[in-house]
Amino acid sequence: MKFASFKHDGNNQAGVVTGESVLPLARLGADAGVTLPDTLLDLIRGGESTMRAVRDAVAAVEQKGRANEIGLSIASVELLPPLPSPPKVICVARNYAEHAREAGLELPKMPILFPRFANTFVGHGGPVVVPSVSHQLDWEGELAVIIGRDTKGRITKAEAMDYVFGYSIFNDVTVRDYQFRVTQYTGGKNFRSSGPFGPCIVSADEVGNPHALDITTRLNGKVEQHANTGTMIFDIPTILEHIADFIDLEAGDVIATGTPAGVGFKRQPPVFLKNGDLIEVSIDKIGTLSNPVVDER
Ligand code: MG
Repeated sequence: MKFASFKHDGNNQAGVVTGESVLPLARLGADAGVTLPDTLLDLIRGGESTMRAVRDAVAAVEQKGRANEIGLSIASVELLPPLPSPPKVICVARNYAEHAREAGLELPKMPILFPRFANTFVGHGGPVVVPSVSHQLDWEGELAVIIGRDTKGRITKAEAMDYVFGYSIFNDVTVRDYQFRVTQYTGGKNFRSSGPFGPCIVSADEVGNPHALDITTRLNGKVEQHANTGTMIFDIPTILEHIADFIDLEAGDVIATGTPAGVGFKRQPPVFLKNGDLIEVSIDKIGTLSNPVVDER
């Protein structure tokens, strides 16, 4: 199944995406006579029984031929980051060999991680902002893993995929001078309105193998990054096992799995995002995350 968070009539809501419409969970629940969660975070936390209730409610509405009546056209709503306030956001750096090479950096021997703060998030269609303090704003298209349940301790690679709820798209937009003039990523990776996330979350069963997806980043329609998620240095089970070595993963956590080659700052001359650009990241079976770029000035 495919899920989205959105704003409609001034209210933040969550829903199931079917084709070009979204079925709001509140309307679905009311129609099916069941109580469904208000947010995707609560839906994920609800586990399998909640997923079953949602699936049954969608089937009932479709069977009654009422999906059109209940659904809202996606074009008519404002999409929000699917999880506006996840418990944690952890990003993997340098997880594609070609990207490490283009950046002139060594291949990592274990996953290199850094945290993102959720208030850097931007939904599909929302603006990525060039800050007034730097012009070095660069894209990083990435597959995002959404954690489905708490690990409550360490996990092994073999069981790691049991903790995955689904997948989304993240654009780990980075301010390069703030990233590289110190040894920590905190500032460069956490500028205001620099974290496009969405447009939706697709459940793990619908995606199938997450290591066989083409990922493509386009700037104003021109392909800048193109790779397959099968070429990650550390695959998803390895990343999750490593994180759970030191901290519990929680339902709703977002793990951005690193970006392939083709970022802008190592081009000759460098290419950075500027006012009026459109930056888009597409991943097979998930969709396309599009964001206009605006200048803070
Ligand atoms: Mg990144």
